[in-house]
Amino acid sequence: MFEDKEQARTPVSELGEFGLIAHLTKGFQLKQPTSVKGIGDDAAVISSEENKQLVLTSDMLVEGVHFDLGYMPLKHLGYKSVIVNLSDVYAMNAEATQIIVSIALSNRFPVEAVEELYSGIATAAKLYGVDVVGGDTTSSTSGLIISISAVGQVESERVTYRSGAGENDLLVVTGDLGAAYLGLQVLEREKKVFEVNPNAQPDLEPYTYLVERQLKPEARKDIPSLLAELEVLPTAMIDISDGLSSEILHLCKESGVGCNLYEEKIPLDPQVIQTCEEFQLDSTTIALSGGEDYELLMTIRQEDFPKIKGNPNLTVIGHMTSPGDGAHLISRAEEKIPLIARGWNALKEE
Ligand code: ADP
Ligand code: MG
Repeated sequence: MFEDKEQARTPVSELGEFGLIAHLTKGFQLKQPTSVKGIGDDAAVISSEENKQLVLTSDMLVEGVHFDLGYMPLKHLGYKSVIVNLSDVYAMNAEATQIIVSIALSNRFPVEAVEELYSGIATAAKLYGVDVVGGDTTSSTSGLIISISAVGQVESERVTYRSGAGENDLLVVTGDLGAAYLGLQVLEREKKVFEVNPNAQPDLEPYTYLVERQLKPEARKDIPSLLAELEVLPTAMIDISDGLSSEILHLCKESGVGCNLYEEKIPLDPQVIQTCEEFQLDSTTIALSGGEDYELLMTIRQEDFPKIKGNPNLTVIGHMTSPGDGAHLISRAEEKIPLIARGWNALKEE
């Protein structure tokens, strides 16, 4: 994780808008061959390679709605705001190449705070190999708003939509689920303890994986290239931002199929299982509705199963059924329970 350090407080007005932009963006270099012109003109210029399609996506994060600066350090926030965008690019089976970063700042943010935010953005951009090619900077009368747009490219015949899943296709997920939501529960609990007793030292040691998944999530950059290597083209794909059941329902609706999801197959980290016991939560519910996992959910043809079998990154959790069947969870007790979409918001109100 990142470290915090004591900071001076320079008002943004000391640099002015253009000074701030120049200051924040001076370190950004262009590495992608398709980045023709980056920061410094009216628009960035990006070239496209032959036989490839461009994918474009955008996400906005609003203070008090999507994040709480009480437990989200600015560096992590910058990092995470890049990750949530790149995850959407990878869900199209594309490679992410450029991002554009727009921020609205209230005057309670000094230059040093914006620097922190940008160091997280720069760290993610470097690690994921994307160029920062532009953005916009403005003031806000309330909180902080960050909007990032990402560009990616994919061979035309390898782009994956939500709509391609067929009956009998296997439902496959990357990584494990539920940890990010539990990480948020742990952080909220610690925040409350701290409010009552500011001298309390948070003990996050048993929850390191959960907290890391919440504060410093990663996107599955490795999956489009892994699938190409395995010679598997998913019939449909989506990223898991709202929770497994919501994403399954999207795939079913867009593809016009049903789905059987097997409870016993859902991949869970041991820390998720332990913490669910401690918090008296049902781990399946958390995996289904928790959200913010940024894993990829895809469907593949049955004949491709031998190609993915045994791969530690890919777990078969179910299969698609005929359209009239609807989407169901098959429980460990072999009960058939209809899947409902309950994002992390709904879960919070319980
Ligand atoms: P314009 O008046 O055309 O909007 P700006 O002065 O806002 O131009 O931006 C100048 C350059 O700096 C542009 O290339 C823009 O994309 C880039 N830029 C502005 N704000 C940011 C930011 N927060 N992060 C990265 N690049 C930015
Ligand atoms: Mg502008």
